[in-house]
Amino acid sequence: MTHAALILNAGSSSLKFAVYVDADETPEASGQVDRIGPGPDHAEITLADASGTALPVNAPGSLEDHQQALNAALSGLRDNFPDIQIGAVGHRVVHGGPDFTAPTLIDDEVLGRLTELEPLAPLHQPHCLSGIRAAQAAFPDAQQVACFDTSFHRSMPRLNEIYAIPREYYDDGIRRYGFHGISYDYISGALRQTDPQLSSGRVVVAHLGNGASLCALRNGKSVATTMGFSALDGLAMGTRSGQIDPGVLLYLLDQGMAPADLSNMLYRKSGLLGLSGLSNDMRTLENSDLPEAAEAVSYFIQRLQRGIAEMAAAMEGLDGIVFTAGIGEHSASIRAETCRGLAWMGVTLDDAANQKGAAVISAPESRIAVRVMATREDLVILRAVRKLAA
Ligand code: AMP
Repeated sequence: MTHAALILNAGSSSLKFAVYVDADETPEASGQVDRIGPGPDHAEITLADASGTALPVNAPGSLEDHQQALNAALSGLRDNFPDIQIGAVGHRVVHGGPDFTAPTLIDDEVLGRLTELEPLAPLHQPHCLSGIRAAQAAFPDAQQVACFDTSFHRSMPRLNEIYAIPREYYDDGIRRYGFHGISYDYISGALRQTDPQLSSGRVVVAHLGNGASLCALRNGKSVATTMGFSALDGLAMGTRSGQIDPGVLLYLLDQGMAPADLSNMLYRKSGLLGLSGLSNDMRTLENSDLPEAAEAVSYFIQRLQRGIAEMAAAMEGLDGIVFTAGIGEHSASIRAETCRGLAWMGVTLDDAANQKGAAVISAPESRIAVRVMATREDLVILRAVRKLAA
């Protein structure tokens, strides 16, 4: 028997999973269940081994909830890896509220407190918690660990946490929590290893995936971030609006738009998708000739440049920029265009290094260092599991 850690990342209709054995940081097996939910749609499962080679899994039919999805994933794992026994489970949890400032072992009391946070992230938190309940049912004897997207930002100074609304709302939990913290935690740690001098300075990390945000890191700690109370604020994203005048929302509500429709518009129909009318996927937009696609990309870049300047202002200066996540790691043209507009700050790219996606893409004379780093949120969760679960 090989004792292993299972890392789960539960989305609204998906469940990503990865299994790690011993001290290895390459997953022995990893995969994803998609199209989870009631209704006639058949779910899909993919499973791959450590080399990334796809492995056979039985077609699951429809899977009503995360518990059924986890069971289907586990049966695929057992068929392909009969010797593996799961000893501990790590979960990505979107919201840790004001109090969960670090990864935490999950017991009934913790699960109760996380459930109380559901109203703060109604679209995401319930799925994370159903992933936890599914894993508890499947592995009643395994220790379960929660890692939070919000924890890393609890080092932010109070001024960067408050909104300028009546004070009592802060006490009711209306504050800037920030998200993507597991990714920023990884980048902060990895930067400390690869470039300790830069890591001790002022760095903006640009996590540019389907969700996108910026984090101002001072000496490796978060001091400001573009997302706030929810994961809607800040940069334009695949389907989310990013920063918008709250007056627009008041106007739409006043005009009779239902809150659920407004939420759907802001989370699922806006951002790159809304502006382009074509796609939320940056690759599709980069390959399109439509003027609307070009405008969506230009808007994305302009908000990114303004956001980087805002983060720099929060740190009273800037020594480095790190690009990460799908767009940040892979789109040389977004990086080039973003940095071109930041020349006034002292950013000069090495075009050849940028095209290659090298680790350092700034020119030697650039005052601000620019790096590309792959984020590994799974590793942050895995390390927390190894630390906390005996
Ligand atoms: P993530 O959420 O981190 O998986 O990132 C997803 C985003 O990364 C999508 O908008 C993709 O279009 C984008 N992306 C991935 N690869 C590339 C690429 N080679 N060029 C441009 N965008 C990319």
